[in-house]
Amino acid sequence: MLKIKNLHVSIDGKEILKGLNLEIGAGELHAIMGPNGSGKSTLGYVMAGREGYEITEGSIEFDGKDLADMEPEERAAAGLFLAFQYPVEIPGVNNAYFLRSALNAQKKARGEEEVDSMTFLKTVRESLKQLKMDDTLLKRAVNEGFSGGEKKRNEIVQMAILQPKLAVLDETDSGLDIDALKLVAEGINRLRDPERSFMVITHYQRLLEHLTPDHVHVLSNGRIIESGGKELAERLEKEGYEHLKTEAAEA
Ligand code: ADP
Ligand code: MG
Ligand code: MG
Repeated sequence: MLKIKNLHVSIDGKEILKGLNLEIGAGELHAIMGPNGSGKSTLGYVMAGREGYEITEGSIEFDGKDLADMEPEERAAAGLFLAFQYPVEIPGVNNAYFLRSALNAQKKARGEEEVDSMTFLKTVRESLKQLKMDDTLLKRAVNEGFSGGEKKRNEIVQMAILQPKLAVLDETDSGLDIDALKLVAEGINRLRDPERSFMVITHYQRLLEHLTPDHVHVLSNGRIIESGGKELAERLEKEGYEHLKTEAAEA
């Protein structure tokens, strides 16, 4: 599903990712952990095609296509979904309209028929209910005045509506209380499917307790310095990152 080879990314001429390699197969959930400033969000942004993030070397292949050749809209249409650490507010655009437009834009790009409003509302209400979110959030402007937890849960609603092939979730767990964290984890687990992959970027092990990642990677200073199973996340929780960084430096 995703093949990242020797990826180097610079922002304003400063190299942030320094030779990152990562492969995610269909149906797999990979967790990316790592200290602050290691380049986790940069990886998300470069996959989204955000301006200013320059790939100076290496490649990102998504579902057999070179991501660098695709416009951000084409990436979404191809089934890539990204939830960012700081979800944007879009004043004046109501949430239901936004969700439906995003879904229909994706359908149009794929040559599929648009969803009618009844079907759409039924799906989105179901999803809101599962995440214990109020229906009134549909009528409000996207993320405007949403609490931190509501914004994060709203991202999961978007993901459930768009049914991506690969979802990249950047710190979707940050700032959530235990109940909201469980709802978000359940929302992700409901979408797990042999055809769908996840890259879950997180600082803490607590989200992973509910998700059971297939692989855990540690990103430090622009590179993956360690990969393992679920037990790696548990070890990091106990030992912190410093220990690993020292080991990597010595190697
Ligand atoms: P993480 O998500 O792992 O905390 P980031 O990807 O946000 O790390 O940041 C990695 C590094 O890139 C940091 O040193 C940060 O200061 C730097 N960085 C991020 N965005 C920019 C930017 N727009 N301009 C310059 N440096 C940036
Ligand atoms: Mg950070
Ligand atoms: Mg970050």
